[in-house]
Amino acid sequence: MLCQLNISNRFKSLNFDERKKKISFIIYHYTETSNLIEAVNLLTDKKRKVSSHFLIDTDGSIYNLVDIKKRAWHAGESGWKNLQDINSRSVGIEIVYPGEKKQMRYKTKQIKSLVELTKVLKKKFKILNSRILGHSDIAPHRKIDPGIYFPWKKLNQNSIGLWADDRIDETNLDKNEFKNFLKNLEKLGYPYLKNNSLKFNAFVVNSFHRHHLTKRVGKKPNKSSLLKSIDLLKINNS
Ligand SMILES: [Zn+2]
Repeated sequence: MLCQLNISNRFKSLNFDERKKKISFIIYHYTETSNLIEAVNLLTDKKRKVSSHFLIDTDGSIYNLVDIKKRAWHAGESGWKNLQDINSRSVGIEIVYPGEKKQMRYKTKQIKSLVELTKVLKKKFKILNSRILGHSDIAPHRKIDPGIYFPWKKLNQNSIGLWADDRIDETNLDKNEFKNFLKNLEKLGYPYLKNNSLKFNAFVVNSFHRHHLTKRVGKKPNKSSLLKSIDLLKINNS
């Protein structure tokens, strides 16, 4: 299994249980650690109860921490469309990276390994591009990883994930357009949307921007955001 890749079994995590669902998602994370050993310590700590199936170091080395047949504990409380228990439905991949606040690019070797690993998993489990997501997409109320420096566009150039090019239009949205924008986010799969106010949905809007329109993170959605949601729905395949 996954034999075409060079994957190390040097570290193992006992933080897992049984899957209750078929695999249909790949979820990307960053470790928010400065190095591999800190990440391994975190993902194998019995008290912390977190883990992932794979861990990718800064030099591109891939480590398998939990058997992909098992349910690793990386997603936590999360959702997508009407689906819960994303841990049961996903393969979790952690990338050694210090966090968005450090404003660092991901290493080229890391992304190369991530692309190779994702391609194999995608093919093996027939995973749709629309279900290759970041932790922030499925848990927008709690998480921001893999952050604004994660190269979603580059992954898409390798046929991974959904991507639509920017159509910049800095016009504000009127009430109806804002409603349509939220509806589009819901259709794409974003969870935890409620009523039609920006106040209650700001964290979901931010999560969408963090993945698809990073220049608007922390800002109100505008016409660029709406156009992006429309373009993504056109290519959404689930
Ligand atoms: Zn995460």
